[in-house]
Amino acid sequence: MHALSQADGLGEDVRPTMDVDIACAGFGPAMGGFLHTLTRAWSENPADPAFESAVTPGMPLQVVCYERADDLAAAVSGVVTRARGIRVSFPDFKADEIPLATEIRQEKVLYLLDPIGASRRSFGLRVADTVLRILGPLARVRNHAFELPWVPGFLHKRGGLLLSLGQFNQWVASQLLSSGFVQIWPGTPVAEPLFTGQGVAGLRLADQGVDKHGTPSESYLPGMDVQARLTVIGDGAVGAIGQAIDEILGRPKGHARRDWALGMKFLIEVPESAELLEPGTIWHTLGYPEPEIFGFLYVHPERLVSAGIVVPSWMHDPGRTAYRYLQHFIQHPALWRYLKDGTLRSWGAKSLEESGRHGEPFLFGDGFARIGEGSGSTNLLTNSGVDEAWTTGVQLAEAVVELLRAGKPFTTAELDATYGARRRASWVEQGAREAENSRIGFHSGTIRGLIGLALAGLTHGRISLAGSAPPPWEQIRKRMRPADTLTRRAAAQFAVQDGRPFHDALLTARGWPEIPFDGRLLVTHQDALLMGGKVQAAPGFADHVHFRDLTLCAACEDKTCVAMCSGQAITLNAEGLPTFECEKCVHCGACLWNCSHSQDGEHGNIEFGAGSGGLHSVEN
Ligand SMILES: Cc1cc2nc3c(=O)[nH]c(=O)nc-3n(C[C@H](O)[C@H](O)[C@H](O)COP(=O)(O)OP(=O)(O)OC[C@H]3O[C@@H](n4cnc5c(N)ncnc54)[C@H](O)[C@@H]3O)c2cc1C
Ligand code: SF4
Ligand code: SF4
Repeated sequence: MHALSQADGLGEDVRPTMDVDIACAGFGPAMGGFLHTLTRAWSENPADPAFESAVTPGMPLQVVCYERADDLAAAVSGVVTRARGIRVSFPDFKADEIPLATEIRQEKVLYLLDPIGASRRSFGLRVADTVLRILGPLARVRNHAFELPWVPGFLHKRGGLLLSLGQFNQWVASQLLSSGFVQIWPGTPVAEPLFTGQGVAGLRLADQGVDKHGTPSESYLPGMDVQARLTVIGDGAVGAIGQAIDEILGRPKGHARRDWALGMKFLIEVPESAELLEPGTIWHTLGYPEPEIFGFLYVHPERLVSAGIVVPSWMHDPGRTAYRYLQHFIQHPALWRYLKDGTLRSWGAKSLEESGRHGEPFLFGDGFARIGEGSGSTNLLTNSGVDEAWTTGVQLAEAVVELLRAGKPFTTAELDATYGARRRASWVEQGAREAENSRIGFHSGTIRGLIGLALAGLTHGRISLAGSAPPPWEQIRKRMRPADTLTRRAAAQFAVQDGRPFHDALLTARGWPEIPFDGRLLVTHQDALLMGGKVQAAPGFADHVHFRDLTLCAACEDKTCVAMCSGQAITLNAEGLPTFECEKCVHCGACLWNCSHSQDGEHGNIEFGAGSGGLHSVEN
């Protein structure tokens, strides 16, 4: 058995080990679905010998889950979901049991016109915008927004739920912990999987008492090796364990993870005096602040509103930044009339894996199985990831219970016959197939992308555009015009004179108006890092962001890693090279796919591993 690295260099005899039956990495909705289903089957028949431990005879099944974040509510999204799988798991589910949750009551799709003329719109879009403006209310254009006459069937979430993912995760975790059947350890990053040949035999926890490079100090505490019969990986879009498995096993033929997005959202409290939309109101938006950026507005109970944007990897621009774009988004007249007197309660950012089935890894192998977004479950057509992630966890748990009862081992063949079979036969798989090529068109432009999305959506995937996605680092500069380079140079000068972050200078240089800070809702990026949650890293862990080759960075004009960093954790040092500050990192994982250079033609120049810290707010 071996792990990928032996960072401690002190030999294996000092490293503690523990044997369990099932070891789990990450606690998101996928793991919630897995542990909920497993413990429910167990609690229905506690005397069932299937739930006796094989590694500690005489003891109950040993199930332990490790979560990197320092609480179990570290999620980011305000979530709309049809909740098909979640409602099967909780047939008596009542939205009012979970803070910020409600039934969905109203849904709209809005195409947002650019009210200030700053966004990078193609000629075709400008023409369409002009026509809409001339038609005005006749074409349902109000407050610079065109309301689609209907919500396309593939997008609607009628009858579904609006949740705070942080609150939902916490609600699930509290039930699991009170059941006493499983252990969940927050604040415990898993460093890497333990490999046995092509299989996985457990998890290695991150070393503590090391410096930022991983060198042991006097308080060195080597991370434990948790040896397990089954290792369940639910570490999300950018998880280090999933990445390590892909490095060793590769991916199924023709599969690659090349489409990504960064989702960033604000949770805003609207005062009593302000006009308020009905709780359960859902807006999906497109068109602004840039044509490539989709947005959302969800109205929770208690005068709380989630507003956010999704910045995709196919936005051909090295100056990507979500934070300032999000500030412009909420100031769009269609949203601002409801949000303008609000207060920022919390915010967050996280990567979304948008390759769908094209990015699906090996779902299982000897001793391991993968669930959730890291297993390619997110549906790109319906913009839905939570219910799918939850359901893959449920499917794996049902398979595990079946194997435990049959006394069968967790081999590739047995997991294929149980978990693989359930997943392939399910609505998650059907949805993933329909969505498979729905986003490809965006690599050739926004209008082509929207046409491809509509075609795939309206025909259930039977008709879609052909194409392929280049590696993410190539997507960044693909359609840059000479004028973009000139603006970037102007912005660089501006940033030096003004001392402001580069991405901020870039949007100003492009003609975006300055943000009228009000200290409440419109605050600087630095101030936001101190609001509504906590950004911090426990001391004694190694850095989790590394630059592979600094000579590439020295020659890099784009510095996309600096411009897009959600936490301003990547900045330039005195030599003009990027440098990482763990204490500011919100663990959005976007630096993994936001570098415009590559050593090997596939990966960017940044490694994103397992680490401590992040921005955590229960309300996210
Ligand atoms: C802004 C935004 C809006 C969204 N809106 C919606 C929506 O409206 N509807 C919808 O259905 N979906 C939405 N999503 C997507 C949804 O959040 C994801 O699809 C879903 O959370 C995936 O669940 P998961 O359990 O697979 O992964 P995650 O929720 O990412 O959970 C993975 C967990 O693993 C932990 N982890 C990672 N690495 C390690 C490690 N090394 N050691 C220990 N723990 C680790 C992470 O901290 C995390 O808690 C949105 C996402 C964002 C960012
Ligand atoms: S990691 Fe280096 S090469 Fe990549 S964008 Fe940043 S500075 Fe450029
Ligand atoms: S350094 Fe941290 S905050 Fe910045 S992009 Fe990477 S993961 Fe996100």
